[in-house]
Amino acid sequence: MGNPVAPILANLWMEYFEAEVLRQYKNIIKVWKRNVDEIFCIFTGSQQDIEQYIRDLNSIHANMKFTYKMETDRTLAFLGIELSVRADGTLSHGIYWKSTAAGRFPNATSHHHPRLLQSKITSLKNRLHDLCDSEHLEQELDNLSKVLPKNGYHMNRRFKQLKKCGQPQGKTRPIYLPYIQGVTDKIGSLLVRKYSIPTIYQSGTKIKQLLSKPKDDLRLQKPGIYKINCSCGMYYIGQTRRTIAKRFKEHKAALKNKEIEKTAVAEHVLDSGPGHSIEDRVEVISNDPCDRSRRIREAIEIRKRKPFTFNRVGGLKLSGKWDQVIEKISLKKINNMDTDSLEYEGIQPVQQRYALESVENKLF
Ligand SMILES: [Zn+2]
Repeated sequence: MGNPVAPILANLWMEYFEAEVLRQYKNIIKVWKRNVDEIFCIFTGSQQDIEQYIRDLNSIHANMKFTYKMETDRTLAFLGIELSVRADGTLSHGIYWKSTAAGRFPNATSHHHPRLLQSKITSLKNRLHDLCDSEHLEQELDNLSKVLPKNGYHMNRRFKQLKKCGQPQGKTRPIYLPYIQGVTDKIGSLLVRKYSIPTIYQSGTKIKQLLSKPKDDLRLQKPGIYKINCSCGMYYIGQTRRTIAKRFKEHKAALKNKEIEKTAVAEHVLDSGPGHSIEDRVEVISNDPCDRSRRIREAIEIRKRKPFTFNRVGGLKLSGKWDQVIEKISLKKINNMDTDSLEYEGIQPVQQRYALESVENKLF
C-alpha cells in the first residue's frame, strides 16, 4: 500500500469481486461490511459451512486468498472496535485494546506545549465517544481516568463528563511555531491576545529525524561527482564539496522556482520546452573529498560524454592531452567486458559503473 493510488485500485477490484460474491452467496450472507481489504461478515451456517465457504471464496481468483477469524465468546475485534453479541442478538461495540497495550501515552512532563498534550487527551476521549456505545463508554472513560495519572496527568472532575469535546473553532488562520518552552509559548500568547491569531505548536526535531534513513544511499551523504538525467536522454555532470544529496536538492529547487541562472539543469529543462524533465534521483559517479581531483574528474566525465551533456561552459579546463587517455581507457575496458557495443553509453548500468570506477582507478 505504499503507492498513493494503491487503496483506490484495491477498492475498485474489491467492489468488482464482492459484487460477484454477494450475488452467489446472497442467501447465507447477512451482513457484509468492508474496509479496503478487511471484511466484517455475518453469515448463517455451521463451522463446516463457513470453512467450505472460505474455500469457495479462495477458488474464485488465483490472487485472492482470504483468511478469517471467528468470534470467541460471542466477541470479535474489527478495525480497533470490539464487537459483541448481546443476549437479544443485537451488537454492542466498544474499544478493542490489544493484549500488548501498556497504557502509555506521551508523558505530561515531556517537552511539548501543554495544548498539544491536552489535544492528545481530547482525541483519546473523543475516540471513546466515537467508538463505544453507552454500555461501554462509562467503563472506558473510567479506565482512561485511571491510566492518565500514571502518565503524569492531573484529572479534573469534568474529565468524566459524558460529553464529547468540541473541535476548536477559529476563523483566523493559525500560525505554526516550533514549541520552545519560555520562548514560542510567550509569542503565541501575545499573538492571540493582541491579534487573535491562534498558534499551533509543533514538536521539535526528533532524534529519528537527525539520523539518516536506512534506505538513504550513504554515497549521497558525501561530496563527489554526480549525474542528473533528463528525460530527453541528455544529462548533467556536476561535482560538489558538500553532500551530493544537498546539491541535488538545490538543482530541484532552482527548477521548481524557475531560477535558470542558478543551475544548468533548470536552464536546460525550462528552455528546452516540453519533453524535458529530470529524474527524481541522482546517480553518484564517485565520492571524492579532495577539491582538485574532484574537479578534474568532473571535467573528464563531461569530456567523455560530451555530445550528451548539457553542462555550461566553465569549470576546470581540461588539457587536450587527456583526450587520448580517456578514449583508450574507455575502449579497453569495454573490450574486456566482451560487449559488442563500443558505444560507451550503450552498456549496462552495472558495467558502466565498473568502467567508470576503473577509469578512476587508472587516473588517480
Ligand atoms: Zn532534456
